[in-house]
Parts: sequence; C-alpha cells; structure tokens
Amino acid sequence: MEKFCVFCGNKPKNKNNEHIIPKWLIELTGDSNRTADFGPIWNSKTQNLEFRKFAFDQFQFPACEDCNIKYSDFETKAKNIVEKLLNEEELNNEDFSVFLDWLDKIRVGLWLGYNYLQKNLSDVYPNYHISKRIGIKDRAIFIYKSDSKQLGINFAGANTPAFQYLPTCFNLRINQFCFFNLSTDFLISKNLGLPYSKEAYYTDSQEIQFVVEGGRNRILYPLIKIAYDKKCSEIYQSIYSHNIKSNIEYLYNNDYTKSISKNFEKGIGKVLIAGNNKIREYPTEPSKSWIPKNIWNLPELIDMIGRQVLNSQIYFINKSAKYNNISLEKRNLIEQQLETAKSVNRMYLKFMNED
Ligand SMILES: [Zn+2]
Repeated sequence: MEKFCVFCGNKPKNKNNEHIIPKWLIELTGDSNRTADFGPIWNSKTQNLEFRKFAFDQFQFPACEDCNIKYSDFETKAKNIVEKLLNEEELNNEDFSVFLDWLDKIRVGLWLGYNYLQKNLSDVYPNYHISKRIGIKDRAIFIYKSDSKQLGINFAGANTPAFQYLPTCFNLRINQFCFFNLSTDFLISKNLGLPYSKEAYYTDSQEIQFVVEGGRNRILYPLIKIAYDKKCSEIYQSIYSHNIKSNIEYLYNNDYTKSISKNFEKGIGKVLIAGNNKIREYPTEPSKSWIPKNIWNLPELIDMIGRQVLNSQIYFINKSAKYNNISLEKRNLIEQQLETAKSVNRMYLKFMNED
C-alpha cells in the first residue's frame, strides 16, 4: 500500500508520525509504556479473526510535518477539555463543539489506522482523511459514567469490518467515562425538524446521493432511532455546512433552522443536551449539566456498551444507502461485504453472550 498522510491523504511531505491515540491521552490513562490490545482483527481473505497485540507506539501513522503542526493547537485545546471532563468540571457549549471535533478526529484516525494495520483486508479504499471529516456531519455523544477509580482506555467497535465500511459509531472509554460517539449525514436531522434524507443511493463513483425532504420544524425525542441505554447524558450537534452550499440550500433558509443554529451561514447547529425526554440548548456559560446522574459498574457498562456499538453498527448498515443505481457486479460485491460485516458483528455478540 502507498503511504499517505492521515490528515490530508497525500504522500507525506517531510514525513512525521501522528499518534492516533495522542501521547497525552495514553499518559492520562495509565503507564505510557504499557501494551494496548487493539485486536482481534477480522481478515476477510481468510474469513478469520486474528488476535494481534500492539503497543500504543505502533499505533502511529505517517503524516506531513505541516499537517501535524496544524493540529497541535487543536490537540492542546482537546487535552484541556478531556482533563476537565475527567475531573468532572464545568464545561460550556463551545467546549463540547471542540470535544465533538476531537472525537471526529479520533474516529477517522482509528478508521484509517485499522485500515493500515489490517493491510486493507476489508478492501476499503479511504476516500477521505482526517482534515476532510472534522465537524462536517451531524454528531452525538452519549456520556456514561462509572464508579471505577481504575485508569484505562478502551475502544469498542473500531476493529470490526462494519466500522471499516461505515465508520459511524464507536465507543471510547477514558477512565471513569464511556463516550459513545456517532456521526453520519443527517444523523439527527429528521427528529430535529431539519431537512432530512428520505432515501440515499450509491453512485458508481462510490459517492452517496441523498433524496432530501423539507424539515418539520419541530423537535421529536429521541433524536436517533437506534436502541440505546438512556442512563447517560446525551449531547448532539447538527452540521449541515455541505447542504447549504448545494441545491437544497432553500430548504434550510427559514427561521426555524436559524433558531437552532449556532452559525447559520456556516451550517453549524447549536450544541444540544437531552434530559427528561426533552432536548434543550447546552448552556453557553460553563455548566455541570453534562455530568450523568446515573453511575454504572464499570464491567457492566463496558459489556452493555460493547453490545450497543455492535448492534448500532448493524443498524447503520441496514439503514445505509441503496445500490440500485450501480452495476450489478459492484452491487453484489458490496452486498456480500456488508452481509459479512453484519455476520462478524453477530459473531462478536454471540461470543459476549457465551462469556
Ligand atoms: Zn498531510
């Protein structure tokens, strides 16, 4: 495989290495020399799971020097926010906007990282890189809190073929918290009352075409239809920056969209928080309203969230774009890949039930 920069996707200029899991995060969560478990990894050629262990240090990938520098201020901001989260301090809506950006970065980084580590076993050719995928689609985080004093970092769902095909959803545990993260086009738009995708189709060039319907101008809770455990804090942000630069711009140009936007011209929605079956704006002043009321036992939380990630990934595959418009050969290939991806998730779920 050609080496590419994880940020811009080009051949790395003045090659540097980017740690997908930043060093500061490794230090915040335990001994920085420890070995991390990033496996098992599905090999679609042998149709088998491969158990492989990597040190965090191996989980670094080529990047241009300039790209690396460009993101170092952002990392400093993110570090500050993650420390506040772990100390259960007050945070404002802007902090969450940055935190959601950072989760976009981690999620896409893991996607590209596994693609590298697996030597592209799922036959996925990344068509975008980190810099093209931060803060451009609807997103959500469900924050779950545990009673654990044990330091640690875990990922769920980043090692599945389903995630290789659709990197929509994963879980990141950092010490006492689990951050269940979701992001995709029109993730929350329908129940948020914004224009939403009625149908989506793949084109032959692997792009997705959406059939978009006008919004209903009112909020319906829950915003997302997946089955998820509600003993958490739910944070949402809609991003429609692409759409207001397209031929459906007129669907957004109304008072309702403006009322729930942080920056209408840029297509960025307000940060929202759910509570008591209601959605409200996240405070602009620093606030502790993000701290979940419920406290989980950590092993139970990790078990629940593992299932939630696997089931959600199956849900998003079932809901993903249709392939009626592409050649039969391509269509059969994609259908077969997605079926395999779903069956691998079901296999993981079965393992979990037997434990
Ligand atoms: Zn670059």
